[in-house]
Amino acid sequence: MPTQPSLGNMLWRGLLRRCPNCGDRRAFFVKWFVRRERCAGCGIRWERNYEGFMLGAMAISFITTGGSLIITMGVGVVVTYPDVALMPVLGSTIAATLLVGVGGYPISYTLWQAIDLYLRPLNEDDGEVTARSVRA
Ligand SMILES: [Zn+2]
Repeated sequence: MPTQPSLGNMLWRGLLRRCPNCGDRRAFFVKWFVRRERCAGCGIRWERNYEGFMLGAMAISFITTGGSLIITMGVGVVVTYPDVALMPVLGSTIAATLLVGVGGYPISYTLWQAIDLYLRPLNEDDGEVTARSVRA
């Protein structure tokens, strides 16, 4: 059985939009929103026979996007209080939300895959993975 990278290593790779398993930068995404079914580096499948995978990735995306919305709006209100500058606060909140939501889209998926790999390590069902493909 190939050894698995540490959780920290996998999370770091996920944050960089790389495959958490092998660290390949081509990983799954061929364009910002377009992904392939398997990692170009190690060949692990995107969802690894787990139907709920997309839900976890969407939860990461929702939490980071919603978090950026709340933080940006909160900072804007606190900084301009008591005369809250509505339009600048609203504009920066929308900009931050779009930036994190759109910019973080593929990262939320590779990040979730890192967590998923940690919770459900590679096994025989992921048989397409070879020993050479797993670099710790
Ligand atoms: Zn890989």
